[in-house]
Order: sequence, then structure tokens, then C-alpha cells
Amino acid sequence: MENYQVLLYYHYVKMEDPDAFVKEHKELCESLGLRGRILVSHEGINGTASGPVEATEKYMAIMHDDPRFSDMPFKVDPADQHAFKKLKVKHRPELVTLRLGAEDIDPNEVTGNYLEPEEFYEKMQDENTIVIDARNDYEYDLGHFRGAIRPDIRTFRELPDWIEEHKKKFEGKEILTYCTGGIRCEKFSGWLLEKGFENVNQLHGGIATYAKHPKTKGQLWDGKMYVFDERISVPINQVEHVVVGRDYFDDTPCERYVNCGNPECNEQIICSEENEHKYLRGCTHECRVHERNRYVEEHGLTDKQVQERLEALKDESVGKAV
Ligand SMILES: [Zn+2]
Repeated sequence: MENYQVLLYYHYVKMEDPDAFVKEHKELCESLGLRGRILVSHEGINGTASGPVEATEKYMAIMHDDPRFSDMPFKVDPADQHAFKKLKVKHRPELVTLRLGAEDIDPNEVTGNYLEPEEFYEKMQDENTIVIDARNDYEYDLGHFRGAIRPDIRTFRELPDWIEEHKKKFEGKEILTYCTGGIRCEKFSGWLLEKGFENVNQLHGGIATYAKHPKTKGQLWDGKMYVFDERISVPINQVEHVVVGRDYFDDTPCERYVNCGNPECNEQIICSEENEHKYLRGCTHECRVHERNRYVEEHGLTDKQVQERLEALKDESVGKAV
């Protein structure tokens, strides 16, 4: 039963008093029974929220009545339950953490050329274009546009340095960038322009919009799209499903993400249920034997049982990196 909806939205607009807005916005969301993560800053709003259909519809109507957000697009996914455990509405210095300081980008002043899904679909097949995934490595690893470049980054703020180091690759090419909902590209494409790249385009509305477009139907996307809520991933390509995720332990096709059982590591790893049991959900031996390993706690394993599993691994993992 899909009686819920998950909303994804952002808007760059000058906010006079972010603290006051946070306070009243939190009350609004609470009164509607929404959950999610909503960031507010002097530069606008960046949110993702879940709730019953009626509540989310009401929320969108209320936001659209506010002149600051009257043209803010919402990406809406049907769901059968909340996608968040709680509600967080927070004042942050930036809507997406890029920390450019004095070189910060105002997307209302400088940003890449917007491409609608159909245009993006056409252009990414042109051999003079280069497609850069503006997301993090673990997002890319679960799914991405076919042939897109994978920046080797763990957080968005590492992206500018990565580009500086690899810019030879992009010289003379028309650049296409994309991210989940479009907000990261607003700044990233603007930054590329400021750095002297000339032909810079961004996927308008991000992958989330591309997936739902009646013509593109998510085509040329392989795998699934990582999302920052309890669903972890959502399907994109409505025509064909090519699995690109690979099991951390045995490199077989897999699309299941878990967090390493060691709470101090918490590394996201793609692995099958079988391998999760086998490796005690630990990404390394140290994580498997960590005194607070969550897998061991959740399954109530005794020391003897843990030892048995570790012994079994010893026999077979000789010479293997993991
Ligand atoms: Zn670990």
C-alpha cells in the first residue's frame, strides 16, 4: 500500500533570518507529521521528507504559497512507509558542504547550462562530451550513467581538488554533470565555469527527475541510485536493469549496502546477506573483532561462535586482501 510519499527538493533563495525560519518550519513539519532532514541556510533550503500522502501534499501547497518557494520543484516518490526515523530541521552555513570560502558560488549568478532529461540523454551519447558524476564514490559504485567519470571522493567538498588534479582529462570537452536531485551540480557547475571550463552543462532536477521522465525513462543509467534515507537505494532505469554494484568480499554482482558492524568504522560496503553473516559484517579483521561489533551484538553471538566464524575465514582467505 503506497499511502506515503518521499519528497526531495531544494531552492537557492536569499533567506533573511534562517534561525526564525527553522523554528517555524519545524513546527509546520511536526504539525503535519513529516519526518526527514531539512537544511536551511542564508542561501535557501535543501530538504528530503516523508509522510502520508495527504500531509506531503499539504506541505507542498504551503511551500508553494510562500513567494520565496513558489516555483520550487518537488520530486515525489510513492512509498509504503516513512523513509526517516525522525525529523531534523537545521540551520547550516551551506545547503551542500563545499567550503569554497571567499570563492563560494551563488547559483543564481553563475551556474552551468541546464539540460532537461531528453537533452541530457542525447548529449551524453555525443563523443565530444564528458560526463562527470558529482556524487561520492559509494554512490557511484551502486549505480551511475553508463560511461560517466567516477571522482575518487568520499565527500562533496573533495570534488574541487579532485577536478584540479585531473583537469587534463576534461580539456576541450563539453562537460555534463549530474547528481541525485540537482543541488550539488548547481554549485559544482558554477565552480567549473569560474575555473575557466567553458562548456558546462548540468542535468536539471538530477537523476531523480531523469528517472521519471516519460521519454528518457531512466535509460543509460546502470544500477540503482543511492539515496540518503532508509530506502538506501531506488530504481532509475525503467527499461533495463544492469547491475553494476560488486560485492566487497567476492566481487560478484550485488546491490545491497550495509554499514560495517564496527561503529567506529561504519564504512558502507556492498555485500550479500550470506557474506554479511560470513564476515560478521566487518570490512576488515579489526572491524570483525571490534568489541562493539553491531553484528555480533544484534545476533547475540557468543565468543565461541565468533571464534568459529573467524577460524572458518582463516582457512579460506589466505592471500586475500579482505
Ligand atoms: Zn570496517
